[in-house]
Amino acid sequence: MTEVSTGPTRQRTDTNRLTSAPPLGEVPPTMLAQVIRPERYGNPSQAFAVEEIRTPRPGPGEALVYVMAAGVNYNNVWAALGRPVDVIAARQKAGATEDFHIGGSDASGVVYAVGEGVDNVRVGDQVVVHCGQWNADDPYISAGGDPITAPSARIWGYETNWGSFAQYTLVQAHQLLPKPEHLSWAAAAAYVLVGATAYRMLCSWEPHTVAEQDVVLIWGGSGGLGCQAIQIVKARGGIPVAVASGPERGEFCVSLGAVGYIDRGDFHHWGLPPDWRDDDAYGEWAVGARAFGKAIWDAVGAKRNPRIVFEHPGEATIPTSIFVCDNAGMVVICAGTTGYHAAVDLRYLWMRSKRLQGSHFANDADAAALNALVASGTVDPCLRRTFEFDEVGTAHQLMNENRHPMGNMAILVGARDQSQVDFQPAG
Ligand code: NAP
Repeated sequence: MTEVSTGPTRQRTDTNRLTSAPPLGEVPPTMLAQVIRPERYGNPSQAFAVEEIRTPRPGPGEALVYVMAAGVNYNNVWAALGRPVDVIAARQKAGATEDFHIGGSDASGVVYAVGEGVDNVRVGDQVVVHCGQWNADDPYISAGGDPITAPSARIWGYETNWGSFAQYTLVQAHQLLPKPEHLSWAAAAAYVLVGATAYRMLCSWEPHTVAEQDVVLIWGGSGGLGCQAIQIVKARGGIPVAVASGPERGEFCVSLGAVGYIDRGDFHHWGLPPDWRDDDAYGEWAVGARAFGKAIWDAVGAKRNPRIVFEHPGEATIPTSIFVCDNAGMVVICAGTTGYHAAVDLRYLWMRSKRLQGSHFANDADAAALNALVASGTVDPCLRRTFEFDEVGTAHQLMNENRHPMGNMAILVGARDQSQVDFQPAG
């Protein structure tokens, strides 16, 4: 299909155009979108540009949401860079005709149209969106498999087109959840991706689900995933211990419910450990790892190792995570931000029956459970900074350079509830 595009613009977007919502259910033929194209792959600050694009229409099982605000996540940093996956080429290989990418995997908004067979939402519903998509007729799912581990599972607004950095976004209707009433549009757009991912990691890998008094080590406690993880562990009666770089980030973790934090800047044994045959070098590495374990005991106030380690830095930290994890405990990981080679000293894994568990986003039930925790005020989205629609590239650039704020970020699309900091610590 030929796309309508007026070409990119870096002029300031007409705010009236963004905020003058058409009457409910009236869908204009074109919309404004922040678009990535292959010729712009590279720094996020350059990769996104505002274009006028045809408005998609919902097919069977789908819904069209008028976007009020959109959340910012790492996956559209990767999409902008064009690596590790060229998302446009990958979709074209699978048969898509569009030569552009509209990213955005978190949103709050209003349902404007629904496709055939949709009965869980109606036009006018105020919603938030989770980013898990899959084929309804996937045989793996029909056979009882968990949809998010199905071969057809994909992440909306990253692996799929028509994400939330646009006036309208196309979703599968099962992705929609009620917007928590007490939240601003921006705050409502900021938490589902990270929150539901954290929820699944902590609450869905039986028997390693957080129980009362479980010690849980949370890497990057002040980050998007970490701030949700701390609050979820606390809500379940566990004992969250955060890792952070520096006291400001550490104190933020404590304000969310961590019993204490470990400043990773105090340690130097990160990355791949030395060869195990080199006794001296390996011994030195083990001194660092043991000292880190002792720092966990100090934070807990007892000689207790974490039953669950919440991992995402990956290469830099996995050897330590495996080392400090309690006997028969679990290291659960959803990313490798520092690298993908995980060195695991297998002696600790088998002799002490430890589990290394991969985890990727969430299914409908995980996302709904997390949303209920947010709706009840138990978990706060930790929105720390809100950007204008023109600043989608800027927000992702900050993230790419690790200069983004603690907690989560959102982009105003149709909404104008400019809330630079509307964060309230939970409980
Ligand atoms: P974020 O907000 O940037 O938080 C990550 C935190 O990691 C940072 O705040 C930082 O905290 C810590 N960190 C950075 N470098 C580190 C290092 N070398 N060693 C230890 N800790 C380090 O990012 P996020 O939103 O939480 O996402 C984190 C990762 O998870 C990303 O790669 C993202 O793509 C991925 N992710 C995956 C899924 C999934 O479903 N698979 C879902 C969400 C996110 P300190 O500097 O304070 O330690």
